[in-house]
Amino acid sequence: MAVILDGKALAKTIRQQVAAEAAALPRRPGLAVILVGEDPASQLYVRNKEKDCQQCNIQSFEHKLPADTTEETLLTLIAQLNNDPAVDGILVQLPVPPHIHEKRILRAICPDKDADAFHPENVGEMVTGNPVVWPCTPFGVMELLRAYHIPVAGKHCVVLGRSNIVGKPMALLLLRDNGTVTVCHSGTGDLAAETRRADILVSAVGKVGLVSADMVKEGAAVIDVAMNRGPDGNFCGDVDFAAVKQKAGWITPVPGGVGPMTRAILMRNVLAASKARQRLKK
Ligand code: NAP
Repeated sequence: MAVILDGKALAKTIRQQVAAEAAALPRRPGLAVILVGEDPASQLYVRNKEKDCQQCNIQSFEHKLPADTTEETLLTLIAQLNNDPAVDGILVQLPVPPHIHEKRILRAICPDKDADAFHPENVGEMVTGNPVVWPCTPFGVMELLRAYHIPVAGKHCVVLGRSNIVGKPMALLLLRDNGTVTVCHSGTGDLAAETRRADILVSAVGKVGLVSADMVKEGAAVIDVAMNRGPDGNFCGDVDFAAVKQKAGWITPVPGGVGPMTRAILMRNVLAASKARQRLKK
């Protein structure tokens, strides 16, 4: 029976550490969150971020804009926040409405204030191995592996999904820790053959029931990043949790695994950016 990787508990510890470090700084770190439109899921994510900021002694600046906001207005707001000394991190809640060019928005955020690490400059730093911040979800996965002493070096790591926000940075992080990494996607020929070789399997696809027990190696660490709605309406991941936990060595639950870690790492990214900026001012 697998050890359950408790992301909720670890995230709480990280928030407590961030709160203590933030309280010791001359100025409270600040995170600006921009939400365009009224997508209910995005509204919930933004509310959660505000709650996390409160717990972490981080000042939260919320900017809720109507769905018909022009790209120009959004770019003007980002430029103001880039120049605001109270703001250490800027996050635009994705997705933005279709009339707004997402790439242009992400590029407009000053790389030093890029709390999500989506700016091309930070992506470049990631590839060369030295970014100040990493994208929150894959870094949260690495912190879970570290906390539970799951070795990466020399292990075969298989990542399902190659998105810019999860799959690709996940592969880079595992590679940085000397894992041997395979990245699978919708064009992968024999997915089960790849997953069965994994000592560490990370699934970030978004398909209920994608990973069954027969696709998992005995004793593997199985990390489920996905956040899907199951047939019963409840949240679930890509992995058949009940069956796979009988076979895996470690497994993340959904919810309560990677999700809370993503939120906690965002807080840590804002703290890191703030510490860097406050030191620069001295
Ligand atoms: P995404 O942009 O839709 O990417 C999904 C990836 O899965 C794509 O690379 C796609 O391949 C690949 N894929 C599709 N079908 C596949 C298959 N049958 N076998 C292997 N790969 C397949 O999604 P995302 O933004 O990365 O998010 C992935 C999941 O993680 C979603 O459920 C999302 O809700 C969740 N998520 C959770 C958190 C968290 O904090 N827990 C954070 C972010 C995302 P192609 O590239 O070939 O299309």
